[in-house]
Amino acid sequence: MTKALNAVKTFHNVINGKTVPSSSGEKMDSYDPATGKVWATIPSSTVEDAEASVTAARSALPAWSSLPAMERANYLRRIGDLLSEYADELAELETKDNGWVIRETKHGLIPVLTSMWHDAASAAILGSKGETVQVGTNTVGYSLREPYGVVVGIIPWNSALWTFTIKAAYALAGGNTVIIKPSELASVASLRYGEIIQSILPPGVLNVVSGTGAEVGDALVRHPKVNKVSLTGSGNTAKAIAQSTSQQPKPMILELGGKSPNIVFEDADLVKAAQGVTLNGIFSGNAGQICVGGSRILIQRSILDEMIALMKEEVTKNISLGNTMDMQTAMGPVANEMQFKKVCSYIELGKQEGGEVIVGGRYGGATLLPNNEELADGYWVEPTLLKVDSNSLRICQEEIFGPVAVIIPFDTEEEAIAIANDTDYGLGAGVWTSNLDRAHRMIRSLESGNVWVNTYRLVGTELPFGGKKNSGYGTDSVLEYTREKTCYIQLS
Ligand code: NAD
Repeated sequence: MTKALNAVKTFHNVINGKTVPSSSGEKMDSYDPATGKVWATIPSSTVEDAEASVTAARSALPAWSSLPAMERANYLRRIGDLLSEYADELAELETKDNGWVIRETKHGLIPVLTSMWHDAASAAILGSKGETVQVGTNTVGYSLREPYGVVVGIIPWNSALWTFTIKAAYALAGGNTVIIKPSELASVASLRYGEIIQSILPPGVLNVVSGTGAEVGDALVRHPKVNKVSLTGSGNTAKAIAQSTSQQPKPMILELGGKSPNIVFEDADLVKAAQGVTLNGIFSGNAGQICVGGSRILIQRSILDEMIALMKEEVTKNISLGNTMDMQTAMGPVANEMQFKKVCSYIELGKQEGGEVIVGGRYGGATLLPNNEELADGYWVEPTLLKVDSNSLRICQEEIFGPVAVIIPFDTEEEAIAIANDTDYGLGAGVWTSNLDRAHRMIRSLESGNVWVNTYRLVGTELPFGGKKNSGYGTDSVLEYTREKTCYIQLS
């Protein structure tokens, strides 16, 4: 078992190369969702702190943006290399912050962060490449790529280090300077991560400021010297940012929610599919709190009973709740009290809407972990599968963002496509089949930014990751963090 972090610790903002408290000296408590108890404090920053971070990022911009791409790449590669020294600490902080079990943060998350920094280093040169064309007899035209300037990355509580990295690494690769605003509900890992990274970078190139979305987030996105915003979060926050920036529109990347279908056909390897749609699809992805969580499991009616039996077996055998720092624990709690109440109310709504509880349905640390007093007040929810008859129910349409999935039967491929696309979201989709033609037909028909066939949730940092419909637009990539400039030269 990994050594637990016991005493309440204090974390600071990272502004202009220094770790600093909020200018008001105010702090906010951070809760460990496994226990429901305070374990750390973070700065409750103000508009002044937001201003200081923009000033720092602006001052650092001329030198950083004019570095040759290969030199910026060297910095990014060194950050990736440095992470192995801090892997255990960062994994523990992320686990304490949002309840994502240590066996996933340590073995799944941290190695991916290293790859992202290395991949961003390789991509830096792409972010500086243009084209040359002879436009007229004596005119040469060429395009070059330039950074936007100061980029603000607004990130959520469920996957802080991953979303921090995908924004910061590619924006820095493109020559921008960056401010990350983590969620007030889980900022610790990001503050410490920022401190580690800034030890390699020139002051002000990367800044991290914690605080509420309404105050610090809003001050950052509406700041006239911020040139691009990338949000990973909810649709409501995207709307609020669009409103705040309406008088001075700025380009945005929006990575929003999902209600992803995971579709199992009768010709699939059912044992593999049962594991894929339960463990990998939803429950082991941070207790379902992952944007691509396969929260709608569509099963062909001819195999419904067999699949339900297999899925029950997978969940019962393989999903254990318990101490999040224990390598044996497969699923952690819901990340905060507000989310816990929301998820529990959706379970009750699902029952009222006629959903049949196939697995789970209970919640509360005292109920689920009666022999572990320390976890009694934690935000624990059982992995829950509800069988329903209609995709129009609220539990099939609204993002629950917890360890809850619905099972929806279908008869034909056409019906599966219609149900899968009958949602406002379009982030992820899974297809389980042994028929190659069908796999290709499904890939083309699904209105989704990412499609997985006979696997789920695998993300290669070399490929784009983005959504369609209300799941957002744009991708955190070096091409989207740089823009083209066109130039014509008349030769005599
Ligand atoms: P949220 O929208 O409540 O908060 C996200 C961030 O926005 C936080 O840092 C918050 O402080 C900030 N914020 C809130 N109001 C703001 C405002 N007016 N101006 C500026 N910033 C503001 O989202 P959350 O609850 O933290 O995260 C869960 C959501 O994120 C889910 O919908 C989930 O699907 C989505 N998500 C999407 C992806 C993806 O890649 N598509 C990945 C992870 C999470």
